[in-house]
Amino acid sequence: MRTMIDTMLPKQPYEYAMWIDGDWVTSKSSFTRESPAHDVTVGRYPMGSEADTDAAVVAARRAFDAGPWPKMSGADRSKALLRVADGIRAKKEELALIEVLESGKPISQARDEMEWSAGLWDYAAALCRHIYGDTYNTLGESMMGFMIREPIGVVAMITPWNFPFLIISQKLPFALAAGCTCVVKPSELTPGTTLRLGQLIEAAGIPKGVVNIVSGYGNPVGARLASHSDVDMISFTGSTAVGRSVVEASRSNLKKVELELGGKNPQIVFADSDLDAALDAVVFGVYFNMGECCNSGSRLMVQKSIAQEFAAKVIEKAKEVVVGDPLDEATKVGAIVNQTQLDKIQGYIQTGQREGATLKLGGNRRQTERGRFFEPTVFEGVNPGMTIAKEEIFGPVLSVIPFETPDEALRIANSTAYGLSAGVWTKNIDVAFQLGRGIRAGTVWINTFMEGYPELSFGGYKESGLGRELGRFAIEEFTELKTIQVHLGPRTKWLP
Ligand code: NDP
Repeated sequence: MRTMIDTMLPKQPYEYAMWIDGDWVTSKSSFTRESPAHDVTVGRYPMGSEADTDAAVVAARRAFDAGPWPKMSGADRSKALLRVADGIRAKKEELALIEVLESGKPISQARDEMEWSAGLWDYAAALCRHIYGDTYNTLGESMMGFMIREPIGVVAMITPWNFPFLIISQKLPFALAAGCTCVVKPSELTPGTTLRLGQLIEAAGIPKGVVNIVSGYGNPVGARLASHSDVDMISFTGSTAVGRSVVEASRSNLKKVELELGGKNPQIVFADSDLDAALDAVVFGVYFNMGECCNSGSRLMVQKSIAQEFAAKVIEKAKEVVVGDPLDEATKVGAIVNQTQLDKIQGYIQTGQREGATLKLGGNRRQTERGRFFEPTVFEGVNPGMTIAKEEIFGPVLSVIPFETPDEALRIANSTAYGLSAGVWTKNIDVAFQLGRGIRAGTVWINTFMEGYPELSFGGYKESGLGRELGRFAIEEFTELKTIQVHLGPRTKWLP
C-alpha cells in the first residue's frame, strides 16, 4: 500500500543539466543518486568532465575580464541578488524536498535552511553597496593615498553534502556581491538544489558566464578547479583531508584559498548553569542533521559534581529524539547520507569501545524496512586522549568528558587539532569570558549553541579552516586590496 510519504517520492528521477556560460549543458555520461532514506533513485545528473570544467572557467574568466558584472554598480548587483532571494523563497518547498531526498535530512529542517539561505542572499545584497577601502590625507601636502577594494576575480567553490544549499549560499552571494564570477562544484551526493539554483540565477538576469555550475566527481571536477591557473581563488567546505589536497593543488598559480573544514566542538557545562537549557542544547547540538555537521557539539564536557546526573538526563532526552523518515514532519533525525558514512560511524563505535569508553545508549544502525538510519548514541567514560574525543565522527555520537576546574575545561577544549566552535554554559560571567577568550575556535556560544546570523562571521582556527564566511568581513575575502598613491603639485626630482 502506498503511504502518504510514497506519494512524495518522484516516480522518475528528476533530470538535471549543468549551467555553463548561460547554457543548460548535458553530457554523454551521467550519474544518479538514491535517497538514503527510501532507496529510490531521485536524480540523474550530468557527469562533468575536465573539458566541462575548463569551459566553465573560460566562461567565468571572460565574464570577469570583459564584464559587465564586476563593473556594475553595487546597487544593480544588489537588485539581482535580491531577485535570487525572492526566487529561493518562491521555490522553497521544491528545493526543500530535493534536499531531503538527496541528503536524508528532516523536511522541517530543510525548509528552515531554505529560509536561512534566502536571508543570506538578502544580506549579501545589502553588502554590495558597502564595499569600501581607506583614504590617507596625512601623507604630506603633496600626497594622497587610497586603498580600494577590487573583486579578486574568478572564484571556484567546492561544497559538501551535509548542507548543500546553505553552504553554497554562504559563499556565492558574497562573492557575487564583491563583483567576482564563479564556478561551482557541488558534492556528487547532493547536487540537485545547487543545479536548481542555476535556474534562479538565470531568472534573476545575472549575465551569462557570471555563475557556472558543474556537477561531477571530486576528481576530475574539483581537482581541476583547485589546480586551474585561470582560477584566482578557491572557496572549499568539506573534510580536512581534501582541504589539504586543495591547498596542494592551489600552488600551481598560488591562488587564494579559503577553507571551512571539520570540527570537534565542545559543549562545556558548569554546575551553576541553567541545566534545563543546557540539556536541550546538548541534545540538539549533537543530533541536529544526524550529527553530520561541522558544528556538531560532539564533545560534552561536564563539571564533575554534576556529571553523572547530567549525563543520565542527556540519555533520557536522547531517547525522546524522533528518528525516522525525513519526509515525516515529526522527524528530528533522518537518514545517514550513504553506506560509507554509516560504516565510518560504526567503525568509531567499535574504536570507542576498544579504547575503553562505555557505550550507554545506541551504537547501532536502526533496523528499518528501507534506508540507512543510526541510533542516537552516548559514550561515557571518555578521556580526552581517545580517538572518539579527538576525531570528527560526523554521526549522532556524543562523548561525555568530565572536568573539574575552568582551567582544566580550557585545556581539554583546546586539546584537539580542530578549532571551529564551542558552547559554554555558566552563570559566572568571569568563567564565561575566561573560556570565551581562551578557547581557540572561530565561534564561542555562551549559554546558547549553534545559533547563527548573516551578520556574524563563521570559520575555523587551527585545522578547522582558513578565512571567514558570513558577516561583513566575508565580502573582503573575495576582494584584493589595491593601493593608489596620487602626487599633487610639483614632484621633488631624484636627479638634479
Ligand atoms: P569531502 O571533503 O570528501 O568532499 C567535499 C567536496 O570536495 C565535494 O564536493 C567533493 O566532491 C570534493 N572533492 C573531493 N575530492 C576532491 C579533490 N581531490 N579536489 C577537489 N575537490 C574534491 O567531504 P565528503 O563530502 O566526502 O565528506 C567526508 C568527510 O568530510 C565527512 O565525514 C566529514 O568528516 C567531513 N566533512 C566536513 C564538512 C564540514 O562542513 N566541515 C562537510 C562535509 C564533510 P565529491 O562529492 O564529488 O567527492
